[in-house]
Amino acid sequence: MSKTIDSEPMTLRLFNTLTGQLDPLAPSDGKSLRMYACGPTVYDYGHIGNFRTFLQVDVLRRFLKLSGVPVLHVMNITDVDDKIIRNAAQAGVPIGEYTPRFVDAFFEDLEALRVERPEKIARATEHIERMVELVQKLAAAGAAYQTEDGSWYFRLAAFPEYGKLSKKDLSGMEDGARVDVDEYEKDSARDFALWKAAKPGEASWETAIGRGRPGWHIECSAMAMEYLGESFDLHAGGEDLMFPHHENEIAQSETATHKPFARHWMHVRFLLVEGRKMSKSEGNFFTLRDLLLKGHKASAIRLALISVPYRHQLNFTFEGLTEATSAVERLRTFHDRLTNTRWPAKNEAQGNDEEVAKAIGTAKEDFYAALANDLNTAEARAAIFELVRKANTFADAGKLHESDAREMLAVLKDFDAVFDVLEDRDAAPTQRAIDWAVQSGRQAEIAPELLARPSVTDEAIEALIAERTEAKKQRNFARADQIRNELAEKGIILEDTRDGVRWKRK
Ligand code: AMP
Ligand code: ZN
Repeated sequence: MSKTIDSEPMTLRLFNTLTGQLDPLAPSDGKSLRMYACGPTVYDYGHIGNFRTFLQVDVLRRFLKLSGVPVLHVMNITDVDDKIIRNAAQAGVPIGEYTPRFVDAFFEDLEALRVERPEKIARATEHIERMVELVQKLAAAGAAYQTEDGSWYFRLAAFPEYGKLSKKDLSGMEDGARVDVDEYEKDSARDFALWKAAKPGEASWETAIGRGRPGWHIECSAMAMEYLGESFDLHAGGEDLMFPHHENEIAQSETATHKPFARHWMHVRFLLVEGRKMSKSEGNFFTLRDLLLKGHKASAIRLALISVPYRHQLNFTFEGLTEATSAVERLRTFHDRLTNTRWPAKNEAQGNDEEVAKAIGTAKEDFYAALANDLNTAEARAAIFELVRKANTFADAGKLHESDAREMLAVLKDFDAVFDVLEDRDAAPTQRAIDWAVQSGRQAEIAPELLARPSVTDEAIEALIAERTEAKKQRNFARADQIRNELAEKGIILEDTRDGVRWKRK
């Protein structure tokens, strides 16, 4: 018999960019895991690369919770920055009128992908005061200075440990090298902006350090420390943020507090599309909405984006997405089989079928071990699919009993606490994407098969099924078949089981 791991949750070992090794990740206060993940810059709709990162952080938080570790997860919304200012100006509206649409869209997309909401969402524009205080603190320590135009810079020379996260060789960045026309007044080319002086027509705030707006790095330092304290457990983001964004966050925060900022740093590797960097000009740039409008299901997109472990390059392809679609189907069919079959009870004399018990025990153990080992989602998924394969064989051979089915459903429940693809909730996000496309004049982007399929409510389906059952009772098989075909045309599949008719949307 395989050993059970119920009694002792495994401690996750996660790669830590700061130490360059797998470190155990556990709450330092013995209570909850305090983590900060850089959120979106809301100037446009999120693309699948962004969502890969948010999904991998979701896998992390879900696995922690499954292992019995509560999380306090903070995510920022960058709602003021150069790109936002540029786009809002082009649209002829203030940034406060430009960003809400993209904030709402972002949360709608997270919901479609079943990404859990962080405990705290912090908007940059609502924390200006905290950022100003941090700049003042750095200035008092001699680590920040103001240039003639009114901007504030961080003096890198004040933080000798600079570069400890990315281990970058910064010797090429010589003092005095002119890197930006805006920044010619800096004492050193390596110094970075904490606060940008107001420019005509740009969003700005009147504050104790002058009129202007915060730099991007100071936003994250101020908001992370506001909600998580000066030192906290984990900081996460995409790999592009490691340098300079996270390096700068460390420099500012640790100079201000003299305490370690985040103990653990998690970076998600970038996603490629069909082997190349995603870019609009290459024509391989996809938002979540693009994929939904092409007819792909949100659950399949979720599975495709999380199945490759976060530290590996994910090469997103449509072939892979099709594979994920059938993988979700296979899981759901298996789950249905487990729940809808009347499995025989085990009689005393039979005892335990070693083979079946072993398959269940191994799947559970492998699933947990894979995730505990640097969130290896590929192996965790493989462990469950191996169980599906074996269980179907056992079931076909009449070897499955009621108690086995119950245990397997428990394993699937753990799997789904992290992967969250079993329940079919795909119709709503697709419908929302269609409605959005219609409202925003993008009808042409909607896949014809999505338009061809008239939408039909759950109530209407149930009513037709009831009518079909009645027709069958009356031996009116022509009408019964007609109803089945009518529903099939609308993408509703009926399945006659011993316990009655079940239906699902294709
Ligand atoms: P942004 O909205 O550009 O600030 O990015 C939001 C998050 O998405 C950040 O954590 C980025 O590092 C991450 N990100 C951006 N592009 C990609 C990509 N191609 N693959 C994975 N993550 C990405
Ligand atoms: Zn950040």
